[in-house]
Amino acid sequence: MNMDAKPPLDRLLAGYRRFRESGWTPHRDRWQQLGEGQQPEVMVIACSDSRVDPAQIFDVDPGEIFVVRNVAAMVPPFETTPGHHGVSAALEFAVQVLKVKEVLVLGHGLCGGCKAALTQELHGAEPGKGGFIANWIAMLDEAREPVVAQYGTKGREAERAMELAGVKVSLANLRSFPCVQAKEASGELTLRGAFFAISDGVLHVLDEKTGEFAPAN
Ligand SMILES: [Zn+2]
Repeated sequence: MNMDAKPPLDRLLAGYRRFRESGWTPHRDRWQQLGEGQQPEVMVIACSDSRVDPAQIFDVDPGEIFVVRNVAAMVPPFETTPGHHGVSAALEFAVQVLKVKEVLVLGHGLCGGCKAALTQELHGAEPGKGGFIANWIAMLDEAREPVVAQYGTKGREAERAMELAGVKVSLANLRSFPCVQAKEASGELTLRGAFFAISDGVLHVLDEKTGEFAPAN
């Protein structure tokens, strides 16, 4: 039978049954322990893109990483304007309550959100018709300018430069949060940036001193 012919939820339920057999039952003690609480040491901010699941890329067990995923792996700046600040809430919880030691911003190749930021194709769209995305990725507008000046708005070179710049924007925005500033200054928290290139499966880690991303060993 063709797997693709099944409704998506049926395929997910088949996966769930595999998980119960191999991921849950043999690790019952671990799950019991997790039932008492979580103590992840790392928060990961990643893109919602279906190809870049941090738990899969880093091959971690449940309880190890606290994850926020959204369009283009963005952290908005510290803002106290009215609204529903989901990323800020998750960041606050991770840093202040869970006391994670590290926050990793994980960008990726072939990112649709970064591409839209680059082309600005959704500019002026209504909410529900691209407007929410346009507004969200407008956070990349400033970083976009030097990218466009150097590479234009089309092609992989321009896209990759935008994707890498996006990681740096999120890191800069993370540092606009007072709790992050204080904990980074005291050495309790480290911020990291990385980039996962989908097509070759290679993770690149940012060296903030040089601004360069280099393949991880
Ligand atoms: Zn993406």
